[in-house]
Amino acid sequence: MKEILQDYSRAELDALVASYGEKRFRADQIYTGLMQGKRISELPVSSAFREKLLARFEDEPVKILETFTSRDGTQKFLFLLADGNLVEGVLMRYQYGNTQCVSTQVGCRMGCKFCASTLGGLKRNLTAGEILSQILVVNRAEGGNAKERKVTNVVLMGSGEPFDNYDNVVKFLRNLTAEGGICISPRNVSLSTCGLVPEMKRFADEGIPLNLTVSLHAVTDGERRMTMPIAYRYRISEILEALTLYFQRTGRRYLFEYSLIGGVNCDEAHALALAALLKGRPCHVNLIRLNEVKERSLATVSEKQAYRFLGVLEKNGISATLRRSMGSDIGGACGQLRARYLEKREDENV
Ligand code: SAH
Repeated sequence: MKEILQDYSRAELDALVASYGEKRFRADQIYTGLMQGKRISELPVSSAFREKLLARFEDEPVKILETFTSRDGTQKFLFLLADGNLVEGVLMRYQYGNTQCVSTQVGCRMGCKFCASTLGGLKRNLTAGEILSQILVVNRAEGGNAKERKVTNVVLMGSGEPFDNYDNVVKFLRNLTAEGGICISPRNVSLSTCGLVPEMKRFADEGIPLNLTVSLHAVTDGERRMTMPIAYRYRISEILEALTLYFQRTGRRYLFEYSLIGGVNCDEAHALALAALLKGRPCHVNLIRLNEVKERSLATVSEKQAYRFLGVLEKNGISATLRRSMGSDIGGACGQLRARYLEKREDENV
């Protein structure tokens, strides 16, 4: 694979352009063009310089292969990477703006029992520029640019475990939030992790005050191990310590994702235990009813049961919301779209 120009920070791009003996304003033009989601072949540079860039860099590292639109307006994108791999993303429309969910890896090796992204294991990490380009091309497709953004919020909740691709994800976050670029504030960015404690602690010192979210899905280590293999490596108490450190360093409250799985983690006793665990902490809980995945045997819960769980948390002083399940008619759950597409590809190859 060639290099990815969108990996470069603004300072790195300046140095690159200078190394080709080009004038500094070329770097401005290239950076502006890239932030608009343009391909290298569309950049306003001399054809000789363009040829040099194209010999070294991918013209279009992330391409929208297909777009699916849900009845609720949610859009799902299937992205084609330069090496033929596929990742997916979602654009959800809210009153305050549009939130894009991006992928950080092709596949995942965390092995959570309810998740479709991990079905075929980890294929490879995405580079910083491949993560950023998912946003740049969607922003462009929506008619936005770096000044008038159509993507206002970003969540790292597509396929992959962000902290299992630490360096590229941190680089992506710096480029995403950099002034002069697409410049999305860290406050409008959420990073969700299954709880890789050493990386969470390291991240506390990066100076990126975003919405750090942990996928909890259980209240005891024993129960967590039944659906999340990572729970054999790190305890819930260690996760809470790392979150406290993040709060101390950034002043940002943290969040938990708790997917309600029928007969597994959603009795009243679970809700009470969760409230006791989190009482007094500067945090918020996002509940979501399990999105049933064909390849997995786990079942979801009724809406009524989900509201009952929410009620217990609220009554016990925990800030929580039940998230609307968006785009379920188009395979909104992590990894479902790619899994289906790969299946289709295999069928066609037979
Ligand atoms: N690897 C990161 C990001 C994953 S996806 C993490 O583990 O946090 C974002 C969220 O969706 C996670 O909380 C994940 O546990 C949850 N999730 C995955 N599959 C799901 C499903 N089928 N139904 C409901 N939530 C699911």
